[in-house]
Amino acid sequence: MKSVWVYSESESVSNEVASAAVGVAEGAGAMVQVVDIGASRPGAFSPGGKLLLKGPHPDITPALAAEALARAARELQPLVLLTGATRTGREIAARFAAKMRVGCMAEVANLSADGASFSGDRNVFAGKVVARVSCQFPAAATVKVGSYPKMAAGEGVVQEKEVGEVSDPVRVVGREKKAAGAVDLKSAKVIVSAGRGVKKKEDLPMLEELASEMHGALGCSRPLSADLGWLPEEHHIGLTGVTVKPDLYLAVGISGQLQHVAGMKDSKVVASINTDKDAPIFQASDYGIVGDLYQLVPALRKALASRAR
Ligand SMILES: Cc1cc2nc3c(=O)[nH]c(=O)nc-3n(C[C@H](O)[C@H](O)[C@H](O)COP(=O)(O)OP(=O)(O)OC[C@H]3O[C@@H](n4cnc5c(N)ncnc54)[C@H](O)[C@@H]3O)c2cc1C
Repeated sequence: MKSVWVYSESESVSNEVASAAVGVAEGAGAMVQVVDIGASRPGAFSPGGKLLLKGPHPDITPALAAEALARAARELQPLVLLTGATRTGREIAARFAAKMRVGCMAEVANLSADGASFSGDRNVFAGKVVARVSCQFPAAATVKVGSYPKMAAGEGVVQEKEVGEVSDPVRVVGREKKAAGAVDLKSAKVIVSAGRGVKKKEDLPMLEELASEMHGALGCSRPLSADLGWLPEEHHIGLTGVTVKPDLYLAVGISGQLQHVAGMKDSKVVASINTDKDAPIFQASDYGIVGDLYQLVPALRKALASRAR
């Protein structure tokens, strides 16, 4: 029977991509197979049964995962490989598509299929427009993370396939967990976000303290992390950073370029502080104050402190 393959380095993302795969499989008359490499992962569920690729070590680089998947695909001929649109998933899908010489759709949601092709929705122009794109089978695609519920049942039978050892010049010599206490913007209910309106790194604690007084987390625009290195990259919100949906997003000294707004536009309430009354961030805001953050942030902190008393 024809198959739709799901592979992700993360069990949680795999269970989400498996949900997306069900729609594709139904439309194409195929079954969903979640692929494990090196060892079976009990937490990754598969509606149509697992495919375990034997030979490679489970802790492998994206390049090796793509090679293992391509070796198996040359024989088993899946209709499509779906990965999550994570940093690793993107690399695997692109490498797999290049090896197999097939098309690859990036960061799609609302997937559907017929016998010959499949389609999905993709945000373009920093989320201003949704494009419906399609691709002929066989193919690869990365699925937008957060757009499907996680599948929670259906292990099925395990099919094994020997693909042999895979190797490349890059060797994993160790993995380290991120330091405890690293910011988790995705689950923060309140985000205070700093932009280039902040004049120097030494001024950031003022915003960090405001965020903590509001029981929230500190985010930033890209220049603060990528260009100036004032904050680690997981603080940066936008097209090339984290996408967030807090109850309250307070943009402080952020101009509101498309690439930033793409990452915070789904916040429930957006409030902004900016000295420029024409700053585009006000278009994306429910509330805005035209003013200097160096006056307004201390005033806001004072008001919060007096309310708490
Ligand atoms: C391919 C690509 C991807 C990108 N991805 C991202 C992304 O994911 N996230 C992102 O953020 N950016 C991204 N960018 C960069 C983006 O285009 C903008 O350059 C960036 O968002 C601007 O950051 P900013 O608003 O902090 O700075 P600026 O645009 O310089 O704005 C600073 C703002 O602060 C205001 N200000 C100045 N002084 C004060 C004060 N004292 N009080 C109050 N307000 C003040 C100014 O009026 C101004 O509006 C990307 C760009 C490209 C090309």
